[in-house]
Amino acid sequence: MVTATPLSLEAVAGGSKLLFRQLFDAETGTFTYLLVDGPSGQGVLIDPVFEQHSRDLSLIQELGPTLVACLDTHAHADHVTGSWLMHQATGCAIGLAAAARADNVTLPLHHGDRVAFGSRHLDVRATPGHTDGCLTYVLDDQSMAFTGDALLVRGCGRCDFQQGNAATLYRSITEQILALPEQCLLYPGHDYTGRMVSSVAEERRYNARLGGQATERDFVGFMENMKLPHPHRIAQALPANLRSGRPREDQAIAPAWAPVQRSYAGLPELLPDWVAEHRHALTLLDVRSTEEFNGPDGRVPESLLIPLPELEQRLLEIPTDQPVVVLCHSGSRSALATQQLQKAGFSQVANLRGGLRCWSDEGYPLDGESPH
Ligand code: FE
Repeated sequence: MVTATPLSLEAVAGGSKLLFRQLFDAETGTFTYLLVDGPSGQGVLIDPVFEQHSRDLSLIQELGPTLVACLDTHAHADHVTGSWLMHQATGCAIGLAAAARADNVTLPLHHGDRVAFGSRHLDVRATPGHTDGCLTYVLDDQSMAFTGDALLVRGCGRCDFQQGNAATLYRSITEQILALPEQCLLYPGHDYTGRMVSSVAEERRYNARLGGQATERDFVGFMENMKLPHPHRIAQALPANLRSGRPREDQAIAPAWAPVQRSYAGLPELLPDWVAEHRHALTLLDVRSTEEFNGPDGRVPESLLIPLPELEQRLLEIPTDQPVVVLCHSGSRSALATQQLQKAGFSQVANLRGGLRCWSDEGYPLDGESPH
């Protein structure tokens, strides 16, 4: 069950010294990558998406790395970066090409720089052409490269706006990316059809625009005749990315009703200490069975009992004038109940993380508990 203590990174990474996760935003087809050096627990996040911030943060909280930096491959035109939000949440640096000239960047990057995380590092390669500030991040042993929109799986980023230049992109791809070892895995900034990774050998041979025998002239001829529609989010995304994803003053996010943490499983959760401190302003809904409620495990004082199997029929018994915190023995049945209440329209609802077990382990009072 979920607890407040993060996992041991070495356990998660297994024999490997590097923990690697690929995340996806379906709305914009954007990939985000987490790389963590297991022994030191230091990590970097590449190309986070603004709307996925709580997902990414919960993964980081559950796995427990210290985030050294959020690295954007370029100033995106199709989605807003989550870098500033992550910087606010974790204190990590915000890395972007100095050439992008964006605000709030704390780690302006140039070709040849090195971004260290623990004993590992990423080499920074300038790969302009899609934008003039595009970077590719190459892992120290050249086993992986994160190409952003310079090179996509069997394709590449467009060159028709944001200082794009097809001849420049051709040289970036052939000299900086496809010159890596054949077996180097290539992780793109986007894909819209489920292709998640490629390799240097594959793209040299099969890339539809510059693989096989294609020359620079073939590539430029292709790129200059694509006639793509303008990205529909550019008017919103580009100015926001030139602030590294920092919301404008007038876009202040309304304060939340509670310090709800969203688990990586997607569940709103509250920790026992906040719930204990505010419980008189909350409905504490216990969804265990009547026998458990009256049994030796005890119950939280003044909690309301509605066993999970009866919940859908008894929603009207739940007061609607205050937020609801749902609990059970370990936090699993109450997770399901939390989802049911959300579906039923309760907006201020959260699960008690770790359930009654965590509550009593942390020394908060229970009624009717028999001594162990
Ligand atoms: Fe792009």
